[in-house]
Amino acid sequence: MKILVMGPPGAGKGSQSSRIVDDYKMPSISTGQMFRDAFNRGDEIGIEAMRFIKKGELVSDDITNEIVKRRLHEADAEDSFILDGYPRTVNQAKALDEMLDDKGTKLDAVINILSSHDVLFERMEQRRVCKQCGETYHLRFKKPEVDGVCDVCGGELYQRPDDTHESVERRLEIYETKTKPLLDYYSEQGILYSVNGMQPFDKVYADIVEILEDLS
Ligand code: ADP
Ligand code: ADP
Ligand code: ZN
Repeated sequence: MKILVMGPPGAGKGSQSSRIVDDYKMPSISTGQMFRDAFNRGDEIGIEAMRFIKKGELVSDDITNEIVKRRLHEADAEDSFILDGYPRTVNQAKALDEMLDDKGTKLDAVINILSSHDVLFERMEQRRVCKQCGETYHLRFKKPEVDGVCDVCGGELYQRPDDTHESVERRLEIYETKTKPLLDYYSEQGILYSVNGMQPFDKVYADIVEILEDLS
């Protein structure tokens, strides 16, 4: 299965993808997470990307396409993968179609997680992320057992530098203008499915599983 999880920032793409990874044993490819990991390692590409990320701007299509292309060539992404947060522009979607075409394959489904702006603002304000493994928490809805410490790896939890009110506003604006047009792009291909992301975690996941089970 080759699937793409879409939705505005804070919709729950990462949280839902990580459950799909566990249950379906397929890798998740999150461009945001790849950029954050590269930054934490001190890699040039991560440092360059973080200049844009902090302000809520998109990283350039060229850099982003390149890291995805490299990742798709790794062995574990041969048969199945979940793309989380990529593509985000029509140019990226076209580049992805080409990459998959070169491998003689295509996307099976695009799952779009819907949410209102109020809910998204609240979620990003309360989001905390593990510096070490990337696991995501919410101060009310998914509290770590010990404050500030990751349940999975014991790493330190931090607030992403782009989860400030200003940056969130900019990211939502960019989502509306640059990313939303992709919904038409995939709807025309007949592979777009939507779920209501404002429901509890388990219900959103159950709705996604229903879509995935229908595919297989
Ligand atoms: P995205 O990857 O789309 O930006 P995340 O998965 O990081 O979204 O979720 C954003 C924040 O909202 C996190 O703090 C997460 O724990 C929380 N969250 C995600 N889905 C839900 C949900 N269905 N109900 C309540 N909180 C949620
Ligand atoms: P969220 O799900 O909260 O939007 P992500 O972790 O997916 O956060 O992305 C964080 C940031 O990384 C984005 O706001 C953007 O600056 C950058 N980024 C991630 N994916 C892409 C992409 N496909 N194209 C350009 N920039 C990206
Ligand atoms: Zn961790």
